[in-house]
Amino acid sequence: MSGPDWAVPYITKRDGEQGVPESMLSLRYNRAGRPIGIRYTHELARNRDDRDVLWARVSQDLSPRTMRPVGKPLFALMHPARQRETMAALRCQVCHGQPSRNKLGYLFLEMAGHAEVEGIVTAQPPVCLDHAVAGINDCRRLHERGYVLLRSKVPRLHGVIGQVFRAVGHQIEALPPLLHDDGSDYPIPYTRGDLMPYVLASQLVRRLTGVTLVDIDAELEAAGRDRLAIRRGAGTRCPAHRAPSLRACTSRTASGSP
Ligand SMILES: [Zn+2]
Repeated sequence: MSGPDWAVPYITKRDGEQGVPESMLSLRYNRAGRPIGIRYTHELARNRDDRDVLWARVSQDLSPRTMRPVGKPLFALMHPARQRETMAALRCQVCHGQPSRNKLGYLFLEMAGHAEVEGIVTAQPPVCLDHAVAGINDCRRLHERGYVLLRSKVPRLHGVIGQVFRAVGHQIEALPPLLHDDGSDYPIPYTRGDLMPYVLASQLVRRLTGVTLVDIDAELEAAGRDRLAIRRGAGTRCPAHRAPSLRACTSRTASGSP
């Protein structure tokens, strides 16, 4: 597969994909009439995952022929359902095909700057070898900040990034965003049973364990692949790391929630 549509990451949000407004959220009560979390006014079964976490509803514009998203890409944003689907199934974040995987595990491309690579918590799904090359070569943010290419034997489901609400009487109120000191999103682990019922999730995150740092040239050689040939065929854009034509790159993995 080749061409400009293929070059846009599957998980990237597209212009025109609309989120359901927060006014459609309300408190969820138990039988005793006590608030136990948040819900959509007209909730659908697919709005919750198998851990009962509520997910941001955003429309999707998919080509009926290819089932690929259409519309102008908004590279700084991820589509909640597509990111969740891709991360849950451990597919390549760009082409949605099988990611690179060998005896050392799944391949992930991360921003540099981690004090310890074992245990990195990430919202970036894995990549196939072609899209690892594309990200390394074409992502300006990775050029500026550096990158780590790694394999994880066990990328464990860890939690979600999302908006946290609280009950105020019979109303709900959005709490300030949970952020790290560097301004990046703070993932909420599933162990936070007090917060999770009040979270509107927009990104699924995994903790990478059994981590080995790897080298792209050694990976390509082992796979019998040629970097230049891959670049000619792909020209991929890296979601959340790169904007069109390398002009407006952002490191913030902003959510696609309303
Ligand atoms: Zn790929």
